[in-house]
Amino acid sequence: MDYASILQEIQQESNGFPTKGNVTLTIPELAKVSPNKFGIHLTTIEGGDFGIGDSNEKFSIQSISKALTVALAFSFLDEKIWERVGVEPSGTAFNSLVQLEHEKGIPRNPFINAGAIVIADMLVSCLKNPKDDFLAYIRLISGSPTIEYNLDVAQSEKDTRFRNAALANFLKSFGNIENDVDVVLDFYFHQCSIEMTCNELAHSFYFFANEGKTKEGKQILTQSQVKRLNALMQTCGFYDESGEFTYKVGLPGKSGIGGGIVALFPKVFVVATWSPKLNMKGNSELGMHALELLTNKTGMSIF
Ligand code: GLU
Repeated sequence: MDYASILQEIQQESNGFPTKGNVTLTIPELAKVSPNKFGIHLTTIEGGDFGIGDSNEKFSIQSISKALTVALAFSFLDEKIWERVGVEPSGTAFNSLVQLEHEKGIPRNPFINAGAIVIADMLVSCLKNPKDDFLAYIRLISGSPTIEYNLDVAQSEKDTRFRNAALANFLKSFGNIENDVDVVLDFYFHQCSIEMTCNELAHSFYFFANEGKTKEGKQILTQSQVKRLNALMQTCGFYDESGEFTYKVGLPGKSGIGGGIVALFPKVFVVATWSPKLNMKGNSELGMHALELLTNKTGMSIF
């Protein structure tokens, strides 16, 4: 497969794509990002690396970090995770409070904010130095020792934390947060503030496509655990647009309001895109379009 030419074609065809959305306005620090950035990096399990556009520029991975925190929590707690978080699509916005009341403090899945905050609480309980240890984990799985938190973004999110603070306190009232709410939120804001390039992001998710093993050969999760998390990304990875993403692209993946998307074809490739303009559901407009072109052109979707 000539991935280099296919990515070039996608770049050309995406130039004229009419985007209607804007960068996220919910985190003031992210509202400053240039809306016209666009990059793609594809890494194959066989060892090929292909990048175009702004694929080596750092951006805020935001909700994409939720797939990595759940992977780490899964490695400690295995199936016990699901006593406190569900595995069903939510059908509501990522930061919705409504469903939590009906479901008595058990979030639908680990990718909506409520679920990710419960996973953050698990990691605060399991890790000795949660923020340092999580960063070390990210560096290990990505093979990139320079990945960092963006402290300005974390602070900006803390300054505007009201909805996430409401979710965390609500969860605590149901007994589904063990630690101090402010400590859990601090961890959560930091995980979301991690910056990566498309290249680093694709490598970070390599183990999801490689039966649980990183590019360097470290077994992060078992094959069966990775199968389960890929299934969750497929059904819940794109806010309340997971059905649409599955329909158009047909790969498991995860998006973030920083405009990043990572998606993977098990045993074949991982691809990361970045374009900050979001649609109404919070997914990168151009990123989704580019991935639809990719699976159409390569014929490689899991369906
Ligand atoms: N840090 C963001 C929030 O909690 C993450 C949102 C996202 O990327 O979906 O609102």
